Amino acid sequence: MAGSEAAWQAAQAGIPVVIHEMRPQVETFAHRTGNLAEMVCSNSFRSDDSEQNAVGLLHWEMRAAGGLIMQTADRHRLPAGGALAVDRDPFSEEVTATLRAHPLVTVEEGEISELPAEGHWIIATGPLTSGALAEAIRAETGAESLAFFDAIAPIVYADSIDMDTAWMQSRYDKGETEEEQKAYLNCPMTKDQYEAFIDALLAADKTEFHEGETAGYFDGCLPIEVMAERGRETLRHGPMKPVGLTNAHKPDEKAWAVVQLRRDNKLGTLYNIVGFQTKMKYGAQTEVFRMIPGLENASFARLGGIHRNTFLNSPTLLDGEMRLRSRPNIRFAGQITGVEGYVESAAMGLLAGRLAVAEITGKTLPPVPAETAMGALVTHITGGAEAKTFQPMNVNFGLFPPVEGLKGGRRGRKDRYKAYTDRAKSLWTDWLQSTVTGAEASPAE
Ligand SMILES: Cc1cc2nc3c(=O)[nH]c(=O)nc-3n(C[C@H](O)[C@H](O)[C@H](O)COP(=O)(O)OP(=O)(O)OC[C@H]3O[C@@H](n4cnc5c(N)ncnc54)[C@H](O)[C@@H]3O)c2cc1C
Repeated sequence: MAGSEAAWQAAQAGIPVVIHEMRPQVETFAHRTGNLAEMVCSNSFRSDDSEQNAVGLLHWEMRAAGGLIMQTADRHRLPAGGALAVDRDPFSEEVTATLRAHPLVTVEEGEISELPAEGHWIIATGPLTSGALAEAIRAETGAESLAFFDAIAPIVYADSIDMDTAWMQSRYDKGETEEEQKAYLNCPMTKDQYEAFIDALLAADKTEFHEGETAGYFDGCLPIEVMAERGRETLRHGPMKPVGLTNAHKPDEKAWAVVQLRRDNKLGTLYNIVGFQTKMKYGAQTEVFRMIPGLENASFARLGGIHRNTFLNSPTLLDGEMRLRSRPNIRFAGQITGVEGYVESAAMGLLAGRLAVAEITGKTLPPVPAETAMGALVTHITGGAEAKTFQPMNVNFGLFPPVEGLKGGRRGRKDRYKAYTDRAKSLWTDWLQSTVTGAEASPAE
C-alpha cells in the first residue's frame, strides 16, 4: 500500500522510481499473490464519510492529492453502505499494472536485506517485513526500537470518561511534580463488579491468530482474558491491582480492583487502558469495557488487539519528515512507522513520496498542518505519541488539535467533527498547493 502510493507520487512529480518487491520470490504468511497493494485481510477501506469520520477525511485528502490507491479503490468499489469496500483482486491488479506501465517506474523483484547506504530510499515493507531486513533495521536502531508484535490496549476519548466516578492519581502518589502524581486516571470496582467483569471476560468471543503468526508471541503481552483464565484473582494482582490508590470521591471506600488509564498523546485527548491488550472481538470489547465504572459511556478511539506487526518506535527514530535520524537518506512509510490500516499506511506512503520529491528537487515544504488527517497522523507517530508506550494507531479525531469554542461530549460531536473536517480540508488544500513543483504541474507522459 504505502510503497505503491509513494512510488506513484514521486513518479507523477517527474522523479524516476524503482520499486523493490520481494514477492513472489519471498512470501509472507498473509499475502496470496505477487501483486503490489494486496489487501491481506478485509476488503474495506472503512468509512468514506469525509465530514464526520477521520478515516473518511483521510480518503478525501488522498483523493485531493491524486492518490493512486484511492482512485483505483474508487474504480473497484463494492456496495457497502457508508464504507468503501473494494474488489480486492482487480484493485491490486490495476495498481500493479498502472505502476508497471508508468514510464518513470521500474519494478524489481527481490528482497532487500540491508539498509542501503546511498540514494533516496523509502522503506515501506509493512507489518510482515522480511526477517533479514528486520534484523538490519534492528542492528541500526537497537533491539528496543523495533517490535514484532503489537499489543494494543483500547484507547478511550478523554471527554467520554465519567470523572464523577474516576479520579486522577498515580499509584502511591509517585512523582516529583503534581502532573506526575496525577498521571493516571483510575476507575474503581467493587467485589461484585470485579466478579461480573471476570465472568464477562471469560465468556467473551475471541479472535484467533492467523496460521504462522504466533512465533515469539508470549513475550510480555498476555491478553487480559488469558490472564483471567489463569485464575480469577490474577488481574487483581496484575493490571487491576488496587494498592496505593485512594478514591478521591469516596476516600473511605477501599476499591476491590482498579482499572488504570494512562494519557496516550501530548494533547491529552486520548487515554489507553493500561495492560488491557486483548484478542476479544471488537463487539465484545465495547460491551465488556463499558462494564468498568466510569467507562459506561466510553467512546473508543481504537479497540485492543494483538497481531504480528513489525513496527518502529517512530517517535524516537524518525524526524518530522519521516527520515531515520541516524540515516537521513532513508525514510520509512506505511504500517512499519506505527500507523495501522490500509488507508493510514497508504497515506503515509503518499506523504513520504511527496517529502522525498521535495528533498530531491531542493524544495522546502512547510510542515504538514497537524489539523489535517495526514498531519495529525504524522505528527502523532513522529513526536505526539508517548514514545515509551508507543503502539500502532488508526487515524481518529483524538489526534487532532481541538477546535476552540465548541461544545465537548457526545452532544456536540456532530458539529465538532464537521468543524475538524472543514478546517482540515481547507488547510490540506493550501498545503498541497505549496508542494506543487514544476515537474508535477506537467506530469511525465
Ligand atoms: C494478517 C494481517 C491482516 C491485516 N488485516 C487488515 C485489515 O483487514 N484491514 C486493514 O486496514 N489493515 C489490515 N492489516 C494491517 C495493514 O494495514 C496492512 O497490512 C497494510 O497492507 C499495510 O500496508 P504497508 O504498505 O505498510 O505494508 P504491505 O501492504 O504489507 O506492503 C509491504 C510490502 O513490502 C514487501 N516486503 C517486505 N519485506 C521486504 C523486503 N525485505 N524486501 C522487499 N520487499 C519486502 C511485502 O511483500 C509487501 O508487499 C493487516 C495486517 C496483517 C499482517
